[in-house]
Amino acid sequence: MNNAVSLAHSAQSLKKAIPLMVKYRIPVTPINYAIWYCYIEGSNPSLNAELDQVIEQNKTCTQDKAKEIFDKHLTNDDLIFFQKKTEKFNRTVEQIQQDINVTLNHSKSFTTSLVDSQNELSTLTNANSYNEILSCVERLTDESIIMQDYAREFQTKLAIAYNEIKDLKRTLNIPNEVADTDSLTGFYSRAKFDKDIKKFCHEYSEKVNEHSQAVLIMFDIDHFKRFNDDFGHQKGDEVLKLVAKKVKENTTEAENVYRYGGGEFCITAYFDSINDIITFADCIRLAIAKLAFRKKHDVTATRAISASFGLAILRPFTNSLVLVERADRALNIAKTHGRNRIEIAPDI
Ligand code: GH3
Ligand code: MG
Repeated sequence: MNNAVSLAHSAQSLKKAIPLMVKYRIPVTPINYAIWYCYIEGSNPSLNAELDQVIEQNKTCTQDKAKEIFDKHLTNDDLIFFQKKTEKFNRTVEQIQQDINVTLNHSKSFTTSLVDSQNELSTLTNANSYNEILSCVERLTDESIIMQDYAREFQTKLAIAYNEIKDLKRTLNIPNEVADTDSLTGFYSRAKFDKDIKKFCHEYSEKVNEHSQAVLIMFDIDHFKRFNDDFGHQKGDEVLKLVAKKVKENTTEAENVYRYGGGEFCITAYFDSINDIITFADCIRLAIAKLAFRKKHDVTATRAISASFGLAILRPFTNSLVLVERADRALNIAKTHGRNRIEIAPDI
């Protein structure tokens, strides 16, 4: 990475990198910043080619992959340089914002005083005994009107610049889209689930339609802890990614998928019938059950992967907490009844 670039250039690259990171749901961490900044700079074609390939395959770049790319193409010195640049850039943005704010207030009070003096001068024009003063006053009035136009235009420009910097600052401080995403699986996060589930229940209650069914599906990887215990946490993460991939293959944009925590996921969706709901959930269950985890270079270390499902169908005016509890209870029943199966919560 070229450490001699100017602050303005860094700011420009940052500004270009951020929309890409937001688009591909990349969390704003120093490592991610560093590789995406480098990507925009284009100074390391092999990093660009690798990142392009990862994005094409996965539509995002996970933390693990980002770390791998970083280790391969960049150094810790780059990271320190980058952190310093980011800090400096943030400080500069802060300073500009403060300056603009001060200027904006000055400009506003300038306009106000111009209007005041214009009013005052207009009153003076009634004093017909002072002809000379009158012509001077008229001139001043004309000038003050021109000044007002300038000031107004200046204020508008400043307000636009201020808002642009405010937006940029907000994006730099972890955009919502990132906080709403689980970095390991690319699904929506638990925090987003907690926000969305109330809306999901509320909306269904408001536009209840006899012909459509809304459901909360909760599913959890069976004996997930054993993967971690037997093969290590990193391999456990690989299992999570394998499961996530299968879920992605069997869902569309119409269904919202969340990582609820650990090896547990939630889906909220609308269907035409309860049969359709069961068919949909069973497709995912079967796709996961076809997976197996294999340890490299050790054919004996093969472990089947499966997940258990709990379904809770919405009824009008269902409370979101009750809905989650029903799905959770159904999931527990699926676990105790032997796992790798679906249970539907009874109506209450
Ligand atoms: P059960 O079939 O009853 O669900 O058994 P289980 O072993 O899956 O039990 P449980 O769902 O309670 O265990 C979840 C485990 O998930 C516990 C924890 O070690 C692991 N875990 C949680 N988050 C992560 C993660 O991000 N990565 C990895 N590798 N493991 C995680
Ligand atoms: Mg589990």
